[in-house]
Amino acid sequence: MTSRILVVEDEEMLLEAVKMNLEMEGYEVEVADTGTKALKKAEGQRFNLIILDVMLPEMDGFAVCQKIRISDSDTPILFLTAKDSGQDKINGLKQGADDYLTKPFNLEELLLRVRVLIKHSVRGSREAEEIRTFKFGDNEVNFLTFKAKGINDNELTLTKKEIALFKLLVDRKGTVVSRNQILQFVWGYDVYPSTRTIDNFIMTFRKYFEKDPSNPQYFHSVRGVGYKFTE
Ligand code: CA
Repeated sequence: MTSRILVVEDEEMLLEAVKMNLEMEGYEVEVADTGTKALKKAEGQRFNLIILDVMLPEMDGFAVCQKIRISDSDTPILFLTAKDSGQDKINGLKQGADDYLTKPFNLEELLLRVRVLIKHSVRGSREAEEIRTFKFGDNEVNFLTFKAKGINDNELTLTKKEIALFKLLVDRKGTVVSRNQILQFVWGYDVYPSTRTIDNFIMTFRKYFEKDPSNPQYFHSVRGVGYKFTE
């Protein structure tokens, strides 16, 4: 059974980045951008983990956590806190939450914490084993195993970053994804690769999946703007 995660965060870009990265790990993700919406979802559905931002409009994460804990004492809660949270706050949140992560955080670290929390949770279930494959032309890419089939039936194994960039472009099929969006989604907060690095990824995709890499059908660079996937 797929593990289900509720992510509560009001920063849209961060919410989407977290959601995408969790989905790539095979989790089923529900989102909420206010405490009220989060409570509604938490009451009506079962989750294996709740990721809860502390600084939310209307009702903060602590209040949301307290309310959840009235009726549900065992769904793990991971707090996302701002860098300037005092020790008191951290102690306070430790009481209702199972773990916390200070912003800005590394996406890899978030995934690691999530894995641990879900594994240890009473309701923890095996991570998704279902195969999720995206096909385009004669190519196919599996988002869970990272295995791919490219031109001339080449068997490939993509790297984690390649899969993240690929999925981002495919999710936004037909629209230009800016360099900044790519940086935030694929590299997270702390590493800032050059434009050249992203270009190299795109060139690799063309080499793998394009019949004529110099005249791409799928992976387009839009000069000065970003990158686009089309089918
Ligand atoms: Ca926030």
